[in-house]
Amino acid sequence: MKAYFVETDDDGTGEIVWCDDIDQHADRAEWYSTRRAPEFDQYCEQGWVPAEAWIKWGGWLSCPECGQHVTPELWNYDEDEPIDPVYINSSAFCSLSCYELTQSKAQATRKRRAELLDQFNSLGLPATAFIGRHFYATEANRIDFTFEGGKGYWNAAQPNEVLIAPIYLDAWEKAKTAINPTAKLLRIER
Ligand SMILES: [Zn+2]
Repeated sequence: MKAYFVETDDDGTGEIVWCDDIDQHADRAEWYSTRRAPEFDQYCEQGWVPAEAWIKWGGWLSCPECGQHVTPELWNYDEDEPIDPVYINSSAFCSLSCYELTQSKAQATRKRRAELLDQFNSLGLPATAFIGRHFYATEANRIDFTFEGGKGYWNAAQPNEVLIAPIYLDAWEKAKTAINPTAKLLRIER
């Protein structure tokens, strides 16, 4: 397949699309313009363009940490200084410090998730904990869990409560007695 730069707006914003015949592409009508970008044919199989190749080609990216634009000039016009990016897959961090900041946040998040799971599991409830998509911040306190016949959630800020929707209360009572009668009795808030 061939790579095309597809302008999705008239301001030059766009993306790379791989296909055999761009004129027959289903999204063709939504695009502002298209042009061949043979430099990117080689990335067809992986389906994304490495950030460095993209920038060298003339594209730009926003730093995932601070939003600074990384452009082919590798220059920060606001601060009037050069940019020394860190390229990770299809992302371009504007500096090593931005990359390291993102890394340390991710590490803190992983640590917090593990702590939360340990804290929840130590309650000995007949429930299987999982951390849902709402978990994005290191301060997050919430654990979702499932049990036989239902689901609920728990918040580390109120560790003596579980929150169960009314429709699952009967199942929750049953799960507690049937599976683990020694589980700590938690107040249930609807
Ligand atoms: Zn940055």
